Amino acid sequence: MRRSPADRSGRAAGGTPPRPRAGQPEQLGFAGMPERLFVCTPSKLGAYADCPRRYRYSYVDRPAPPKGPPWAHNSLGASVHTALKNWYAIPVDRRHPQALAALLKGTWVRDGYRDDEQERAAFRRALSWLEGYVDTLDPADEPVGVERTVAAKTAVLALNGRADRIDSRPGPDGPELVIVDYKTGRAGLDADDARGSQALALYAYAAERVFRRPCRRVELHHLPTGTVAAHEHTPESLARQVDRAEQTARDIMAAERSVADGAGPDAAFPTLPGTHCGWCDFRRICPDGARAPGQEPWAAVERTLAATPRD
Ligand code: SF4
Repeated sequence: MRRSPADRSGRAAGGTPPRPRAGQPEQLGFAGMPERLFVCTPSKLGAYADCPRRYRYSYVDRPAPPKGPPWAHNSLGASVHTALKNWYAIPVDRRHPQALAALLKGTWVRDGYRDDEQERAAFRRALSWLEGYVDTLDPADEPVGVERTVAAKTAVLALNGRADRIDSRPGPDGPELVIVDYKTGRAGLDADDARGSQALALYAYAAERVFRRPCRRVELHHLPTGTVAAHEHTPESLARQVDRAEQTARDIMAAERSVADGAGPDAAFPTLPGTHCGWCDFRRICPDGARAPGQEPWAAVERTLAATPRD
């Protein structure tokens, strides 16, 4: 999922608004001016939560520091996501599995693979995932949104993001929205992953306001295994995720202010090293990341090909 502007309803359709402050006026600053909202996507917030230094390298330092080489797993994920997006863009009577090879070929990103052999194996596997996946779909179903940008404001955030897919499905009191996120990585996913995903919760929060319809269910569709991990949010659980996102935004704004007030940027945005450093775009320039063993750009794809059902 990749991820724009405004709480258009101010109140959740069909029920209690997930957070009490959403409909309240923005807080006022010193000169009676509204405080600046923190403009963000879920991935921007996630970058800071994972490692403040990585956030600084990605979003603060300008010119931006050089990144490492492209990752094959990002190429594979982008190719599959775009193929599915384009599948919904073709007429219903052409939405059949035989259309997928041309769609995938047209969107295929070649960067990061070990060699042509691995790239061809990844293409074949991705095509078989897609064929299996669309077989589970009703071609006549038209999602409410495909790679759709949704946005909402809170007292702290101007949140935007792009959901892979937003479905409309029948609920007890009428149609409800469902956030669908495609996954192409190695690991199987479970309901805890869907429940814990801040990004999915924020998309649900924003979609509910953009479309003025309840949006509580979030789903991770793992294409390699054809499994779906789902979670039904409540207004309270969405509010908790928004609170967490706001706290992260406050931390980021405080770090930025401290740099503006003269603090060293290294202290304001500390490193948070861990196994994730091996997959970090900035490992080569980061004083702590350089100590972590690096991963080859194709390593994750190699593992995915080894661990998931074959074509
Ligand atoms: S290498 Fe590790 S510590 Fe350094 S920026 Fe990346 S994630 Fe943070």
